[in-house]
Amino acid sequence: MKLKNKKQIEFICPICKTKEKIPREIVEMLDEADQHGVDTHVPPRFDCEKCYGKMVPIFYIGVKGKIYKYKE
Ligand SMILES: [Zn+2]
Repeated sequence: MKLKNKKQIEFICPICKTKEKIPREIVEMLDEADQHGVDTHVPPRFDCEKCYGKMVPIFYIGVKGKIYKYKE
């Protein structure tokens, strides 16, 4: 069985715990743009609108097959 991303990827801010759903296409686009010699241990991130934090995916499979999981 192959794991698949959902249509929307849920992101969470580690600081204020705000959650936001972001369309998979956008996350994957950013992910692909990030692949050029950049550290792939870091998932695609978005600026939190409520604080200075960076939102990270709760569960996301990268374009190169890497699985990112958010842990407290
Ligand atoms: Zn925040």
